Amino acid sequence: MQPLSDKPAPGWAPPLDEQDATGAVEWLLQFASRHKASDVHLQLDREMCRVQLRLDGVLVSVGELPGEAAARILGRVKYLAKLKTYVESLPQDGRIAGADVGLASDVRVSTYPAVTGEKLVLRLFYEADQLTFGQLGFPSEVHTTLEQQLAIRSGMILLTGPAGSGKTTTIYALLQRLLETDACHVITVEDPVERVVPGIMQTEIDPERGLTFAKALKHLLRQDPQVLVIGEIRDEETAAMALRASMTGHLVIATLHAGSCWGVVERLNALTDDPHLVAGQLRLILNQRLVRRICTDCSGSGCGSCFDSGLQGRVPHLEMLRVDESKREAIVAKRLAKLAPTFSFEQSREHLLGQALTSETEINRHNLT
Ligand SMILES: [Zn+2]
Repeated sequence: MQPLSDKPAPGWAPPLDEQDATGAVEWLLQFASRHKASDVHLQLDREMCRVQLRLDGVLVSVGELPGEAAARILGRVKYLAKLKTYVESLPQDGRIAGADVGLASDVRVSTYPAVTGEKLVLRLFYEADQLTFGQLGFPSEVHTTLEQQLAIRSGMILLTGPAGSGKTTTIYALLQRLLETDACHVITVEDPVERVVPGIMQTEIDPERGLTFAKALKHLLRQDPQVLVIGEIRDEETAAMALRASMTGHLVIATLHAGSCWGVVERLNALTDDPHLVAGQLRLILNQRLVRRICTDCSGSGCGSCFDSGLQGRVPHLEMLRVDESKREAIVAKRLAKLAPTFSFEQSREHLLGQALTSETEINRHNLT
């Protein structure tokens, strides 16, 4: 079940004999894209180049490129990304047009001078990535509660979890679901806009020009939204604006950095210094992680499409706190230890293992229960 480390991955066969490396670069990117890798890492290590893919959040070695071919391939990548091919001692950022390498989306390229040689990271994007609400894979209890809460046009739904835990995907899926049932006016303030969702008004903050979350919100409230999505509540001003919006008949969906559901309440209390207001407006908190899913092609025994790891794709592992009357009292009294989740990580673990969606090792890797 462990990702392979030394031998090349199944299907690893880049064409290395060409003089201009055009085919090799296309082959590499299409290989990565076929496996839905989010990134390709090309790390020069003296005489050779190590190739790794980030698959479902985990870096997996897939093969090596010999010295001369590696130099041609890295040079070709930099050329396509419109970088200075002769510069190896300074970091550079560029973009390869998807059409130039036979992909549907552009590839972002970043180079960095490491001590053993240049390191290139190629980030891939996927158009069809956005999951629908039903495809998120939430346990039915969480799914039903979310659906009920979405129908109410006031109060706050907050999401937390580290970077890459699927919060944005969840929010976009919730918005799509919302638009299916009711064509309401949705405005988002994001940093940055990660995906364009038809039917909603998305805006991006620009702190360098003075457009912060708080400033954008102040103006956007005059645009008459019914639902407001805030990329992240990270300061007092934004927290105050978000609460004011939710009090005045807007559904507010936002993320906030915390390690647990009760941690969200603690942080919001600290940002606003008004537990009464927080208790009155908070309706639901989701604390989300992503765990790798047992490969559906081989049921976990290991095959070519999961690189013998037995795992492919990801599924949410989460806790949920529904703020009801008793929880409100606990928030006001600042007895946050009383805020037991309505759906706990233990229940999530039981659900994931009961449905054979992931492995025990994979859940334990996240160290949550
Ligand atoms: Zn498999």
